[in-house]
Amino acid sequence: MRTLLTVVSLFAPLGLLGCVPKAPAAFVAPDHVRAVRDQIDWDEAGEKASAQMADYLRIESVNPITSNPTGQRDAAQFLADILAEDGIRSDIIEYRPGHVNLIATLPGSGEQAPLCLLSHLDVVPGDAEHWDNPPYSGTVDDEGRIWGRGALDMKSLGLMEALTMSYLARLNVPLNRDIILLAVSDEEVDNTGARWVADNWDDFGCSHLINEGGIGVEDALFDGQAAYFISVGEKGTAWVDIVATGEPSHGSTPLPDQSPDRLISALSDLERRKVRYRIPEPMYELLDAVGRHQRGLTGAVLTRPFWVRTLAKGKLLREPAVRATASNTCNVTGLLGAGSHNTVSGRSVAHYDCRLQPETEPEAFVDELRDLIRTEGVHIEEVGLVQGSWSPIDDPLYEAIANYVTEDQPDAVAGPVLSVGFTDSILLRPLGVHAYGIAPIRITQDEAFSMHGHNEYIREDDLRDGLYRLLSIVTDQATTTDPQAER
Ligand SMILES: [Zn+2]
Repeated sequence: MRTLLTVVSLFAPLGLLGCVPKAPAAFVAPDHVRAVRDQIDWDEAGEKASAQMADYLRIESVNPITSNPTGQRDAAQFLADILAEDGIRSDIIEYRPGHVNLIATLPGSGEQAPLCLLSHLDVVPGDAEHWDNPPYSGTVDDEGRIWGRGALDMKSLGLMEALTMSYLARLNVPLNRDIILLAVSDEEVDNTGARWVADNWDDFGCSHLINEGGIGVEDALFDGQAAYFISVGEKGTAWVDIVATGEPSHGSTPLPDQSPDRLISALSDLERRKVRYRIPEPMYELLDAVGRHQRGLTGAVLTRPFWVRTLAKGKLLREPAVRATASNTCNVTGLLGAGSHNTVSGRSVAHYDCRLQPETEPEAFVDELRDLIRTEGVHIEEVGLVQGSWSPIDDPLYEAIANYVTEDQPDAVAGPVLSVGFTDSILLRPLGVHAYGIAPIRITQDEAFSMHGHNEYIREDDLRDGLYRLLSIVTDQATTTDPQAER
């Protein structure tokens, strides 16, 4: 996305048109939010949170479950103990042996539907060989970085959510809605934890939900500007197997209709798929926010969807990330065949991973793929079809997130994005909840790659600031606007 800088510089003459946007007014937090957070000693809160973060990262809640079969339960218990310190009772439900969900409710007046804070307890494996500090060590280094698998994805947000509840309980803040903490198993493998939540949704009934999916990134679109990407939607999936069959035979004598040849031919049939590019609406909102912040010539282009479409779209679409957002993609992610060097397999399979814009219906998309295959002896098997989904941008929680993640940071901007991957939110949006993905912290572009990669850590300052921002967002959304009204 760095290329935005060059995209926009091409259109400098447009500045002559004099359509330069005004700078956005700085956000000022309302009194009832200030009143809550001013009661907290944030240095002390940061220190305590850092120690807790390190402990949480030491719990090997690795998924797929390997060395520590009770990892996810241990992680749930860890959060339960933190909540218990402030008198918040939680239930740990083992919905399947070794797989647990933690549920805790901080009751409010019920004036508004509950607000859910969702996180997952599991982490992907970390290969110690490639890490500067071991992945389950919870090492805090000289630069104030807390190391461990899950530091960003997503034990830090999970901890911030639990601590937000703890502070609201400790300070006896009157709430106009229940706040429900959900820390679930298995996000990294097969989402069974969130599926259980979806199956029991009547017990929660949250109108709004905060989860992972977005984060602040330094120099994301322009140097010197941090952008908080708030995930407001996720692409759907059509995971299918392309299966070719044929007579098994000897490798020495090529014959027609062998399964590997058929598979290659079918994959080239699929290459003929017409890819349509449509920049999703939220991207214009994001560019608008970025443009208002950049102002000048850049702002003039970015704040006008028509100009973006006519002048910048082609260049934007050269970015793989933008292309993925703006289209339905398919990717061969693996090839399977039972053959050896001298035996032609009777069955050859390609794993085909298609990611679909929320408007695309997965079943219809797979039918289109079927129509494209002209090769004999090849069929498509459906493995996992999930429809993508959106939550609205015109929403009080979205607005609060956008305001508080950038509060007092003149170099930061926030805007909505469509995530090309999915989180547990994809299972809950169809139930009517407005779900937003945001870890309210700032990381560098390199650090973003540490999620599911090597050398994952979170800075102590970021953890403290993230907690401050999340507490502000939740307080804003769950307390009365009149501090006198309920006291
Ligand atoms: Zn995650």
